[in-house]
Order: sequence, then structure tokens, then C-alpha cells
Amino acid sequence: MTGEKQLSGGCQCGAVRFAIDATTLGRASICHCRMCQKAFGNAFAPLVTARALTWTRGAPKYFRSSNKVQRGFCADCGTPLSYEPDGLPPEIAIGALDEPSAVPPVIQIGTESRLPWAAGLGTLPERSAAEQAKVASFYDGIVSRQHPDHD
Ligand SMILES: [Zn+2]
Ligand SMILES: [Zn+2]
Repeated sequence: MTGEKQLSGGCQCGAVRFAIDATTLGRASICHCRMCQKAFGNAFAPLVTARALTWTRGAPKYFRSSNKVQRGFCADCGTPLSYEPDGLPPEIAIGALDEPSAVPPVIQIGTESRLPWAAGLGTLPERSAAEQAKVASFYDGIVSRQHPDHD
């Protein structure tokens, strides 16, 4: 990470945007715990500790998922954005970053709840060209309403 680099990100609709001083990033993880599965509607939650996190547009709505943690999300589009434990630095959802590939997870936690098939995801077959051709007309007509990956 270089000096003043700022990472940006936000929700799918763009109502909530954030910035992080990249030099303050902590450890990136994927969490398999049952709470993260529910909060993300997903098999696991990729998160990175973001000590210098600034909400630059709008603000998340919060759900207090336990007595010690609140989770931020966009009230307009539902994108999960943050995991904020009391008294500890917040973590931001890696998928909400404008450049999520810049922050690769280095550890997995909450493995007691890891779904049995999660470890094999990278070995699943990919959609073939023939299968892709069958759905191409649908995808060709898509006009994205997702906020672009920049401010
Ligand atoms: Zn949104
Ligand atoms: Zn978790």
C-alpha cells in the first residue's frame, strides 16, 4: 500500500459511499459464522478492518445483531456494508469496495459454522460457452442501475 492511497466503496444504489485510508487497513478475513451468513445473505462474509473509515455520502442504517456488534447496511438497496464491534475498529465489506480485488482475505474465521460445500467453491465447473449462449439475449439487454465503481 502506498502513502496517501484512499480506497472508496459504497452500496449498490450509491446512496451510501465511504472512503478508507488504505494505510490503516487491518487484516482481511472471510467469516463463516452464522450471523455473517444471515447478515450478508451469503455463505460467508469477506471483511477488512478499516480503522480510518469515513462515510462520504449518506450513512448506513444499523441493525444491532448482538449486544456487542452493530451492522451497517444501505436502507435504500440493502447492501451489507459494515461490521462494527463496540470498542474495536469497524470492518467494511470487501465486496462493497470499488476495487475488491485489492484486498484479498488472508484468514478464515467462524469456521465452526462453515458450510460443508464452502471449501470446494473454487473447484466448481464454470458455465460453458454453449450454456452462456442460451442466456446471452437476456444479458445483452441489461441496463445496469448499479452505482459505478467510483465516486
Ligand atoms: Zn444503496
Ligand atoms: Zn461473522
